[in-house]
Amino acid sequence: MRATSLAKLLLPSWVESVQHRNGQILTPHHPPRPVPLPPKVLSQLFVQPATTLNPGVVAEAPPPSRPLKADSLLVSCVGQSGNPSWTEERQAGPKAQRSHPMSPRDKEETPTSGSSTSHLSTAECPAHNGAVPQEEKRMNEESGRETEGEEQEEEERASDEGFMGMTPLLQAHHAMEKMEEFVHKVWEGRWRVIPHDVLPDWLKDNDFLLHGHRPPMPSFRACFKSIFRIHTETGNIWTHLLGCLFFLCLGLMYMFRPNMSFVAPVQEKVVIGVFFLGAILCLSFSWLFHTVYCHSEGVSKVFSKLDYSGIAFLIMGSFVPWLYYSFYCTPQSCYIYLMIVCVLGMAAIFVSQCDFFATPQYRGVRAGVFVGLGLSGVVPTLHFVISEGLIKATTIGQMGWLFLMATLYITGACLYAARIPERFFPGKCDIWFHSHQLFHILVVAGAFVHFHGVSNLQEFRFTAGGSCTADGAL
Ligand SMILES: [Zn+2]
Repeated sequence: MRATSLAKLLLPSWVESVQHRNGQILTPHHPPRPVPLPPKVLSQLFVQPATTLNPGVVAEAPPPSRPLKADSLLVSCVGQSGNPSWTEERQAGPKAQRSHPMSPRDKEETPTSGSSTSHLSTAECPAHNGAVPQEEKRMNEESGRETEGEEQEEEERASDEGFMGMTPLLQAHHAMEKMEEFVHKVWEGRWRVIPHDVLPDWLKDNDFLLHGHRPPMPSFRACFKSIFRIHTETGNIWTHLLGCLFFLCLGLMYMFRPNMSFVAPVQEKVVIGVFFLGAILCLSFSWLFHTVYCHSEGVSKVFSKLDYSGIAFLIMGSFVPWLYYSFYCTPQSCYIYLMIVCVLGMAAIFVSQCDFFATPQYRGVRAGVFVGLGLSGVVPTLHFVISEGLIKATTIGQMGWLFLMATLYITGACLYAARIPERFFPGKCDIWFHSHQLFHILVVAGAFVHFHGVSNLQEFRFTAGGSCTADGAL
């Protein structure tokens, strides 16, 4: 009962539905495991500054009748004759602290030893002076309810005096801060993966991945810590995180190549740098999106738009060095094709800013938009083949590598759109080798193949020199 109530206070509403559906708590406590609160945390929760109404008295947590658990923190006080004292444990969370809820059941459980008995949260407990503990002690003795020893009573009195020495507002603020900090730590360390059917709608994307999903996370810190946990996004994050680092290193190495390796060092480094920039932006936005998209619906939308924009940046960036070297001696053609691909790329970015674009129903449309953007390279390719001939295109023009690159990208997009292989093995590819992971790997591979082809084009240009003679021109 107590663990369930705490979970209701601490967890989002969708988790309650999990509990109700299965009759048990799935996350973060499954099964409910109350954890003893460390004495250090307890003392931090209740120790007050020495500059209270009773200087020199250091308050401590009231001696509980049984060991305190993490899910039964003491935050309420029951006053008799207007004198509050620590006499009852009450479950609490940040919400309880803020709103001071008093359910009918709470009222039933509140001892009623007189008409003046009140059950208040810390914020509502009136301040009182040092005479209270003695009066309460006397009342307890009279009613025969005192079961603790003399020493324990002294501790209780010190606790009352110290804590109540603060203003009610300070008490509430202090306790709430400690509680929120504690709850965040508990949550971040204890979430567990959940099945697809209990995800909130905004996290439901691929219903062939039956289990292993992250629940919504309460903070970015929790999201980033989840990088090191095993769940449906682990592979998606790491494929593009490592890919991003790989292209970052490759790009830096390329930029620091000696200038003597280039015909026009600055111009060529800028042109190839645009490709690296597109690749790094694409992979960065991608792993960031997969890391934080479980934070909240708003964050998910923003980062999904960045993710799709990144794909457009990669495609546009890939065109730049390829068109530059392929139409080195006919720059007008190069500029026209560059302008066309930029317009198409900006259109793809514009469409991807629409909320509907990220929905599961538009998975095929998304794949189609980016495949179409990439396939716009067919026109300059045909131009090149017609003007230079097929043999020159495959040898000097690196058409073989470009064809392999296109195959990798299109295969990845098809797997992504059709959700293969998890479509044929639902629940078997939840963690590894599902379509999105394969798509990610194929994107990294395609980008590297493109870089290899562009490097070969650059080497040919360096060998041929900057002149556009009949043999050297492309
Ligand atoms: Zn992705």
